[in-house]
Amino acid sequence: MKTRAAVATAPGTDLEIRELELDEPRADELQVKIVASGICHTDAIIRDQWYPVPLPVVLGHEGAGIVEKVGAEVVGYEVGDQVVIGPAFCGSCEQCLAGHPMYCVNFYDRNFGVQRPDGSKAFSDASGPIGSHFFGQSSFAEHTNVVAHGVVKVGNDVPLDLLGPLGCGIMTGSGAVLNVLQPKPGSSVAVFGTGAVGMAGMLAAKASGATTIIMVDIVPERLEFAKTLGATHTVNSKEVDPVAAIKEITGGGVNYALDTTGVPPVFAQMINSLATRGHGALVGAAKLGTEAPFDIGTLLLSGIKVSMVIEGDAVPKEFIPRLISLHQQGLFPFDKLVKKYSFEDINQAFADSADGSTLKPIVVF
Ligand code: NAD
Ligand code: ZN
Repeated sequence: MKTRAAVATAPGTDLEIRELELDEPRADELQVKIVASGICHTDAIIRDQWYPVPLPVVLGHEGAGIVEKVGAEVVGYEVGDQVVIGPAFCGSCEQCLAGHPMYCVNFYDRNFGVQRPDGSKAFSDASGPIGSHFFGQSSFAEHTNVVAHGVVKVGNDVPLDLLGPLGCGIMTGSGAVLNVLQPKPGSSVAVFGTGAVGMAGMLAAKASGATTIIMVDIVPERLEFAKTLGATHTVNSKEVDPVAAIKEITGGGVNYALDTTGVPPVFAQMINSLATRGHGALVGAAKLGTEAPFDIGTLLLSGIKVSMVIEGDAVPKEFIPRLISLHQQGLFPFDKLVKKYSFEDINQAFADSADGSTLKPIVVF
């Protein structure tokens, strides 16, 4: 069938909306009519080739839509199901079987390989095959074929055009907090970076009962906005030393911290702001090969723990319904982070995300 899709063709250039041919879903796939897709910072860094993902490719990995075809071997889904699409995983390696599919040993190939395991690509046009299956889905397309086991049914009484980001950015920040850091009620949490991922971490910290929630960024407007959503303190790290500020606010160090920037000095700040036996997590993506220096001599005495966290270490089928439930109870107002764009304005949405004016863009088809 024919479908319109946004194709990434070269680093730093706009996506091109083209009409592509979409092949038939394979036995383990669903064909989904995408209703809306979030845009994540990771789409931008792949367009710009921070990871060596082959171009041209249809990006997009925060898709939500309606099942329109069910592959021959797929069970548990029907035409018409409303779904949110999470990352792909193999389902049979030791990490998948241990309940940590976001650390699937095939995660890179399945999500950044931009083809099926058999080497085929779902999209093509006169120029040849176009990369598909980005994060198992390539959701910047009106119709796409997705790996069924990453797909989460969400019922029919939910605002589907809002839910795509639960499949990546929102799941990443909130999962890093709820699944990995697990702050105790009454504890302190610092989040470096107030983009969609950091804000989702902040909302999750609040939902966990943390009572000191410190947001760190260099953009004053974002810090002001964070205060309206639950930050108890904000630190502009362009103006003050965030480590000293956090130590002062917390009386010696913060219990839990999240770095959503992936900027080496910020990662070091996160580590240095932790209390004794504190726990920090990195979710911000840096170019492959990026190193961060910190003082292992002193830190040995601190007993701190540092985790590297992919996709909130979530099991999407279990975690996304929990986030929806928290949202319905008013305890996880991630909708406040969202701005909607029409699909035709996808490059404007990327630009608004890059300059910080939009926290979480969603393109609606
Ligand atoms: P974003 O660009 O909207 O937010 C990043 C924030 O960091 C911005 O507000 C920016 O002002 C702030 N920042 C940048 N440099 C800073 C500095 N030196 N000091 C303090 N703050 C600084 O991005 P996002 O959508 O929130 O995503 C955050 C990161 O998470 C990205 O790197 C993205 O690729 C990554 N990500 C990782 C995963 C994962 O599985 N680990 C999943 C999704 C996204
Ligand atoms: Zn993402």
